[in-house]
Amino acid sequence: MSHDPAVAPAPGTGSGRSVLAVDVGGTQIKVAVLDESGRLGPIARHATPRDPRDPAGVVVAAIASAAADLSARGARFSAVGLAVPGIVDDRGVGVHSTNLGWRDFPFTERAAAALGLPVAVVHDVRAAGLAEHRLGAARGAADAAIVTLGTGIAAALIIDGRPYTGRGYAGELGHSIVDPSGPSCRCGQTGCLEAIASARAIVERYRAAGGPGVDAAEVVARAQAGDPLARRVWQSAIDALAYGLAQVTALLAPEVVVLGGGLSESGDALLLPLRESLRRRRRHGVIPRLERAALGQDAGTWGAAIAARDLLDGRDDVARGTA
Ligand SMILES: [Zn+2]
Repeated sequence: MSHDPAVAPAPGTGSGRSVLAVDVGGTQIKVAVLDESGRLGPIARHATPRDPRDPAGVVVAAIASAAADLSARGARFSAVGLAVPGIVDDRGVGVHSTNLGWRDFPFTERAAAALGLPVAVVHDVRAAGLAEHRLGAARGAADAAIVTLGTGIAAALIIDGRPYTGRGYAGELGHSIVDPSGPSCRCGQTGCLEAIASARAIVERYRAAGGPGVDAAEVVARAQAGDPLARRVWQSAIDALAYGLAQVTALLAPEVVVLGGGLSESGDALLLPLRESLRRRRRHGVIPRLERAALGQDAGTWGAAIAARDLLDGRDDVARGTA
C-alpha cells in the first residue's frame, strides 16, 4: 500500500457528509476519504486481489478491509462510492469484466453488506465522466461526452446535464464500427474504433507494420519526430477517432468532448490533429469543443466520491444503493 500527497480540494464538491471513494482498476484499488469540506484525502493504493473462484468477492473483501483500517485510524464516513470496470448496470450489478473475470455480481448488495453502509456503484468510465462534468473540463456543459482513451476506449455521456447510461450499456464508443474492412476486434466484431485507435491497438499495429515493440506514448513521440511508420499509425488512429466522434456529434451534438485516459497525455499531439480531422468530417452542423481531461488519473476516485455524496443527497443521477 502507498499514499499520494493529499489532493487539493477541487471546486464544486461542496460541503456535505464524509464519504469513502473506491476506484477498482485492473492492477490497483484506489481508496480515499472525501471529508465534510469536499477535500479528497490521500489516495491509498492496494493491489487488486485475484481469485478465479470468486473474482468479485475478493475485491469486495479487500475494500472492506481497507475501510476497516481507515476506521481504526479514526476516519469516519457515511457512504461509499465504488467505481468498477467492465459492464455495470443501473442496479449496480457487475454484468461482466473481461479483465477481472466476474459475471453478474451484485456489487451494490454485497458491498453494502460487507461495509455496513449505503454504497453507490458506478462504472469506472462514468465515474471519471461524472467528475469531469462536476469539477473538470466539462463543467457547466449541458451536453458532453467524456472519452477515455487507454488500453480500451469508452465514453461517458451527459445529456441535459445528467449522465445518460442506457441502463448501463451506453458509451461503448470503442466498439462502434469505424472501418468495416478494418482489423478484427477482441469483442468479435470487425473494424471497431478500439481495434484501430486504443493504446493497445497502436502498439500492435506499429509492431505489425515493422516497427519495434514500444509503448503507445513512444509511437506518438516517434510520429512527432517524423518517423513515417509511426506517423501513419498515429494519423490512422486520429482519423478513426475523428470518425467515431463525428458519429457522436451527428447524433448527440455535445458542446464539449473531453479526452482522458493514457493517450490524452499526448496533449496537443492528439488534440490538434484530431480537431483538424474532425473538421474535415463535419462539413455542416456544430463541432464540439475538444478538451483534455482536467482531473487526470484521479478522475475515477473523484467520481466515486461524488456518486457517494449524491446517494446521501438523494440524487439518483448515476447510482442507487442501499445498505
Ligand atoms: Zn469491438
